[in-house]
Amino acid sequence: MDFATRAIHAGQEADPATGATIVPIYATSTYTQAAVGEHKGYDYSRVANPTRNALETQLAALEDARHCIAFASGLGAENAITGLLNAGDHVVVSDDTYGGTYRLFTRVLERFGLQSTFVDLTDLAAVRAAVRPNTKMFWIETPTNPMLRIVDIAAVAALKTAGQLVVVDNTFCTPYFQSPLALGADVVIHSATKYIGGHSDVIGGAAMTDDDAIAENVRFLLKTLGANLSPFDAFLISRGAKTLAVRMREHERNALAVAHFLAERDDVAQVLYPGLASHPQHELARKQMRGFSGIISVTLRGPESRALEVAKRTKLFSLAESLGGVESLINHPARMTHGSIPKDERERRGITDGLLRLSVGIESAHDLIADLRQALDATLALAGVSARGDGGDDPPNPDRIPATQNDGAPTS
Ligand SMILES: *Cc1c(COP(=O)(O)O)cnc(C)c1O
Repeated sequence: MDFATRAIHAGQEADPATGATIVPIYATSTYTQAAVGEHKGYDYSRVANPTRNALETQLAALEDARHCIAFASGLGAENAITGLLNAGDHVVVSDDTYGGTYRLFTRVLERFGLQSTFVDLTDLAAVRAAVRPNTKMFWIETPTNPMLRIVDIAAVAALKTAGQLVVVDNTFCTPYFQSPLALGADVVIHSATKYIGGHSDVIGGAAMTDDDAIAENVRFLLKTLGANLSPFDAFLISRGAKTLAVRMREHERNALAVAHFLAERDDVAQVLYPGLASHPQHELARKQMRGFSGIISVTLRGPESRALEVAKRTKLFSLAESLGGVESLINHPARMTHGSIPKDERERRGITDGLLRLSVGIESAHDLIADLRQALDATLALAGVSARGDGGDDPPNPDRIPATQNDGAPTS
């Protein structure tokens, strides 16, 4: 079955008890047993719940994995996966990663004796140099966050020796655009809060693997650490995931349009988007990914105050953390998502004070571009350039529905 079909049908059989077409929210903590130990496969909802199980079947099918274990958050999944390791083990971690991942390794796991080295995983020589005799895990995030560099998953997986695991955080691409397990990863993790849920109304996470032993260990860690996803949240994520294919196509289409718009402006210093031919790893992105997803990072000309002013002035792009919802968001990584990384470390990675990260939603691209244009134009005095240089008037809007075809009042 194709992706779009799996998204809607996998794990979504009619409810055996009632015939309900949509998987019900099984709001129960416990399950009545006919006799001691005699039950229908469920005994306590931290361990298993039918709504959550249906979501796990659905997400496993999307990632084309044998197993999926759902968690209460992406970080809950990350914590459980690092629980596969022991004190004294060493992890090679992407140096351009989600801020919370950096915080987990440096502020918590290090105190428990887990060693980690942060490396630019696009530099394979640096990866090789970082490996120690006790290295047990490679932690990849690609595209990286927020610099949108592309890590060659197959190349890093090829460095792995017996007893080492490759983990890929596939949150930015989603299984629609990237299949890390097929490229040699052992475990894929997701923040389902982002594209998979897709509507910015729920926090959730997932870990996927083809390895039966890893899956059994992760289930044990879920049961023991307790970051279980509630049936209500499982329901919301499942509903969101059914439209993942259509949403991702639109996110990408809009992001390409926005990236081209930004790249043409003189008051923009740099646009980072893997779908632009100017991206230094565009060829690798084309080879590894089936599409470029919806995140753009952009460095504006001018001081930090300009970036902050633009972030304040956009109206459709909400100034907010997170990403991957149908609505567009704008974020200042240095002060928001990546604020827990020390400033010198941030600057070393390119997370400058003029950098903005956009999560391009699925509104009309025409409206999104107009919103960015007004915010950029209003702050030109701070940019130190005289003309905006984006070619002048708005191009025709291909998505425009003529007023006569609308149900409501004329649109203009
Ligand atoms: C948000 C995010 C996480 C953490 O997920 P939560 O659901 O917020 O716990 C991990 N990795 C990436 C890439 C993210 O964007």
